Amino acid sequence: MNPIPYSRQEISDADIAAVVDILRSPFLTQGPAVEGFEAEFAALHKGKHAVAVCNATAALHLACLALDVGPGDMVWTSPISFVASANCALYCGADVGFVDIDPVTRNMSVEALAERLAAAERDGGLPKVVIPVDFSGLPCDLEAIRSLADRYGFKIVSDSSHAVGATYRGYPIGRHADISVFSFHPVKIVTTGEGGLCLTDDATLADRIRLLRSHGVTRDAAQMQGSSEGGWYYEQVDLGFNYRMTDIQAALGSSQLTGLEEKFRRRDCAARRYDDKLAGLPLKLPVRLNDRQSAHHLYIVEVVEGTSRSDVFAALRIDGILVNVHYIPIHLQPYYRMLGFAAGDFPASEAYYAGAITLPLFPSLNPSEQDYVVERLSRAIGA
Ligand SMILES: *Cc1c(COP(=O)(O)O)cnc(C)c1O
Repeated sequence: MNPIPYSRQEISDADIAAVVDILRSPFLTQGPAVEGFEAEFAALHKGKHAVAVCNATAALHLACLALDVGPGDMVWTSPISFVASANCALYCGADVGFVDIDPVTRNMSVEALAERLAAAERDGGLPKVVIPVDFSGLPCDLEAIRSLADRYGFKIVSDSSHAVGATYRGYPIGRHADISVFSFHPVKIVTTGEGGLCLTDDATLADRIRLLRSHGVTRDAAQMQGSSEGGWYYEQVDLGFNYRMTDIQAALGSSQLTGLEEKFRRRDCAARRYDDKLAGLPLKLPVRLNDRQSAHHLYIVEVVEGTSRSDVFAALRIDGILVNVHYIPIHLQPYYRMLGFAAGDFPASEAYYAGAITLPLFPSLNPSEQDYVVERLSRAIGA
């Protein structure tokens, strides 16, 4: 058996043809294909405005800037995420705080968030923005977080990098956040090679993100401070970046979205198969909740106390199963320890990390590969 990766992108002939068409068109970088991709993505998630950028890290950065995050502000996120969920606040000169996870959903704990907010209201230090993460593709309880946001006056940037196409209470994710961010890195649900996107119902925020994506430069008279001096005229009205997505990437993205439902179905099917085959083993499995449908970006099991995660990990790697671990808690990274965080700060996150192993899950994972993973995993945990 060939090595089985934890994730593998799927590029169809139609995807390749779509990219080749763009290479023969007059636009290579941000042009009509980006606009088309944005419109399709917004429609799919029933959102009003989508702004595509070069990657989700840039999307998180622009989301924070659009919400005026700056020096002296506090941004809270989950320790169990990719470092980009926290770094975006540091890019803006703000301070980062973390809220521990719920051990069942592995998402930011709403109870822990409510407690920290109550304490911060007493002692100062309420956050300007909270960045919950739809970890592994399972949507956060955003209705509950929204009511806390309304009470304590913070904005919500949902890091939905794992959750393209997921639903919460019968509606595509993104509805209760001020801005939702998605990633199109090759390991994610749909890919553009590199790519990210901000989704929002707020036209002002969308305009701000669009402006910052391209140097803070505008050709729109409504955004200018002076009046046009001719057809060549543009103004830089803010300090922006070159965070554009190319039409080459967007064409790949549009084509990938066409096959999303089928990819989604196959991921769900493989996840259910793991649920069935692993039930009864001494492992903690991902939770399924009635009010939300995960996008199943990652299928993560946790070994129980007394089993060594590193032994299980090493055994599976030797068997050609390229398991992974998502994630090392952000606050334990040396850079964040330097900022004052320490082991013991977020016990639920640390306990999760001690046992977590990401098993292979991708649309083209076949049943015999999956059976092999189950068999080798059972053996490795001594079941
Ligand atoms: C992948 C990922 C990002 C960063 O995405 P890029 O597109 O690679 O910049 C941010 N947050 C989470 C949770 C991710 O998984």
